[in-house]
Amino acid sequence: MKIKNAPYITGTQINYYFICKRKLWLFSRNISMEHTSGLVEIGSIIHENSYARKRKEIELDGIKIDFFEKNKGIINEVKKSKAVEGAHIWQLKYYLYHFNKLGIKVKGQLDYPLIRRRKLINLTSEDIKKIEEILSDIDNIIAYKASPEKIESKICKKCSYYELCYV
Ligand code: SF4
Repeated sequence: MKIKNAPYITGTQINYYFICKRKLWLFSRNISMEHTSGLVEIGSIIHENSYARKRKEIELDGIKIDFFEKNKGIINEVKKSKAVEGAHIWQLKYYLYHFNKLGIKVKGQLDYPLIRRRKLINLTSEDIKKIEEILSDIDNIIAYKASPEKIESKICKKCSYYELCYV
């Protein structure tokens, strides 16, 4: 399903905003190294194996919902691990924010099939204010002439930009 009136900032950008501002900047400048990461392939395999039958993807141009459970009115975001759960939560809240703007009431659920965990996510009026601040902040970051500093974190080793940041 494809819906018009698309957001111009993607769910992935919201996710990266919480993980690393440098990653957000690199991705937003269309510098992509995702194909070099085995983790991305693992993610695709999880999606294919876990949800082959019930999956119904929904796509707004900037965001892609992994699958929608029509009978429950729940949009699901599937993730490999909870290592950056805060980023996952805000990515999903961003999706809820857009559905809310379209006048469509849905709930969100984070799905971690590898550890058999699910978590329901809501959107509050405070969340809406925070998302609008985040969008403005992302605009500012993307406009930087040079990339933000590396974060020197243990998550860097699993990042697709690792080789670019630590040559
Ligand atoms: S390797 Fe680390 S510093 Fe570089 S983009 Fe990824 S998370 Fe950010």
